Amino acid sequence: MARYTGPHCRLCRREGLKLYLKGDRCYTGKCAIDRRSYAPGQHGQGRKKVSEYGIQLREKQKARRIYGVLEKPFRNYFEKAERQPGVTGDNLLRLLERRLDNVIYRLGLGASRVEARQLVLHGHFEVNGHKVNIPSYQIKVGDEITVRDKSKDSPRVKELMERSADRTPPAWLEYDAQEAKARVVALPNRDQIDAPVQEHLIIELYSR
Ligand code: SF4
Repeated sequence: MARYTGPHCRLCRREGLKLYLKGDRCYTGKCAIDRRSYAPGQHGQGRKKVSEYGIQLREKQKARRIYGVLEKPFRNYFEKAERQPGVTGDNLLRLLERRLDNVIYRLGLGASRVEARQLVLHGHFEVNGHKVNIPSYQIKVGDEITVRDKSKDSPRVKELMERSADRTPPAWLEYDAQEAKARVVALPNRDQIDAPVQEHLIIELYSR
């Protein structure tokens, strides 16, 4: 399964804001955005004027990087969102938000989406009683997501379970921290998705 393997902080610097890709480090003074808040590379501190296309492109790249999705699958999400009834931009964000790795992150069972993705790949979670190790798995209303019994002995999973007890999950998820069991009570509305993305710019880009 293809994924981005380069330096994550470089992506934040390219987008000019914190994308919180490295978990706990993002909240410390070691955050690269706090130390070098300009774009990476030789021309990172150079020309700032950006075309309309450039603005749209950056917005799409930012959304891809926040959710950890490569170009081709991201385009597929857009095409699927276009075919669905309703507002394409809302549909697109909802599809991204429904990824299993994102849900695990939202529950606090991964310090970042990158870690959540890795924990899913390592088979630490079940959906409706079946092991699911596909980060892009789309959850549905009524799905029950649990930490697998044998994973509860993993020190990192244990730590994340303890930490998740102090977090309030989004309203579309119900979470029992004691049991490490969540239920999807609704699909997220646009106002329940706090990703700093202006989805209309992505739609404009793909509609060119
Ligand atoms: Fe981005 Fe986190 Fe790196 Fe800061 S520490 S630049 S927020 S990935």
